[in-house]
Amino acid sequence: MSAPAPAEPAPTSFDDRLGALFDELAELTGQRNAIDGRIVEIVAEIERDGLWGATGARSIPALVAWKTGVSPSRAETIAAVAHRLEEFPQCVGGLRQGTLSLDQVGVIAQRAAHGSDAHFAELAHCATVSQLRTALKLQPKPEARPDADADVDVDVDVDPPAPDPDPQPSITTTTDEHYTYWQITLPHVEAATFEAALQSHRDALIAEWRQRLETDQRPPMPTTADAFLRLVGAGWDAEVAARPHGQRTTVVVHVDARDAVASLHLGPMLTDSDRRYLSCDATCEAWFHRDGRTIGVGRTTRTVNRRLRRALEHRDRTCVVPGCGATLGLHAHHLVHWEDGGPTELWNLALVCPYHHRAHHRGIITITGTADTLCVTDGAGRVLSSASLARPPTTLPPAVEPCRGPTGERADWWWYQPFEPPPAARN
Ligand SMILES: [Zn+2]
Ligand SMILES: [Zn+2]
Repeated sequence: MSAPAPAEPAPTSFDDRLGALFDELAELTGQRNAIDGRIVEIVAEIERDGLWGATGARSIPALVAWKTGVSPSRAETIAAVAHRLEEFPQCVGGLRQGTLSLDQVGVIAQRAAHGSDAHFAELAHCATVSQLRTALKLQPKPEARPDADADVDVDVDVDPPAPDPDPQPSITTTTDEHYTYWQITLPHVEAATFEAALQSHRDALIAEWRQRLETDQRPPMPTTADAFLRLVGAGWDAEVAARPHGQRTTVVVHVDARDAVASLHLGPMLTDSDRRYLSCDATCEAWFHRDGRTIGVGRTTRTVNRRLRRALEHRDRTCVVPGCGATLGLHAHHLVHWEDGGPTELWNLALVCPYHHRAHHRGIITITGTADTLCVTDGAGRVLSSASLARPPTTLPPAVEPCRGPTGERADWWWYQPFEPPPAARN
C-alpha cells in the first residue's frame, strides 16, 4: 500500500469561507480600534501641550487630516475624542483595548454630557453608531454651562433667549487683539430673511463642495461662516457692478514714513505684522505721512486686477500652504512685500487663506521663494510638505482580542434609561 496522498484541502463551503474572512476581519478590526486609540492619545498630547501651534495647521482637525491623510470628517472625529480624552477614560479605554470603534467613541465625544463616561462605555458595547446617536438625542438638554470656553465647537442646541418686548434691529461690534466680534440683532421677520439668504449661500457652497467629491484634496466642508462671507461677497459684487467706478471699498491705512507705524483710518494703531498683512492684498490704500504731513499715497500697482487674479486662481487653486486646501476667501499674498519693492506680478504672488496669510505675517509660518520655488516652513523652520506621515509599519500590530463589533441587538427605546447628570452640587 502506498502512503496516503497528502490530504487535499476539502472544497470549503461559502459558510466556512465567510467564517474565516469574518475571523480575520474581527482580528483586524480589534487591531485597528487599538491603533485608533493610540492615535487619539497622540493627538490629545499634541493638543494638551500646545505642540500644534508651531506646525502652521489652522486647527487640530486640519493637522490630523493633513498628517494622517484621512478625510476632514474623520479628522474631526479623532480630534473630538482627543479633546475629551480625560472626560471619557472608559470609552477611550475600550478603543485602546480594541473593543470599541473610533466612530462609536466619536459620536459619544461629540455629544455626550459631562460625567456620562461609564453610561456610554457600557451602552457602546452593544449599541451601533446610529443607536448611540439615538441614545444621545434622548439626553436631557444641558443647562447653561459654567465652563464657557468648552462649547464653541460643540453642537449643542441652546434655547433662544426670551424675546425682547420690542426688539430693535441693531449691529454691535467689539474688537480684541485678533478679531472683531459682530452681534446682529434682528426681529424675527428680518431674521428669517437673513437666514434664508444665508441658507441659500450655504446650499450653493455645499453643492460646489460636493462636486469636488472625486478629488483627494477636498477642502473642509463649508461652514455657516463661509456662507455668510459668500453672502457679503455677493452683495458687494452687485454693488460694485452698480457703481460707475467699479472700485471696491478701500481700507485706508496711514503709515508714518519715519517710524513705519500705521493706523487704520481713524482707527486703532496697527502692529508691524498687521500693517504688512493689511497692505499685502488688494483692498488697501496706504497714505504715507512724515512729521504729520501727507507725503504720498501707496503704489496702486499692487492691486491684483481681475485678470491677474484669475491667472493666480488657475495656477494655485487652493491656499498654497501644505495641508490646507482652503478655497474660499483666498488672499493674493506678495511673496516679496510691496513695501520692500516686490512687484504685483504672477511670480511674486501666491494664494493663501486668511488664516495662513495672517500666520505668515505674524511669523508663525514662513512663505519664501518665488511662486515656482515656493517653500513654506513652520515656526521651528521645518519645511512643510503636503504628504501624510503614512509609511509601512515597522512594529507589530497591537496584541488585542478580535473585535466583532457591537452586538447591535434591536434597541428597545421604551426601556432605555437616558443618562441623567447627577444634580449639581451647589456651594
Ligand atoms: Zn501677505
Ligand atoms: Zn491656508
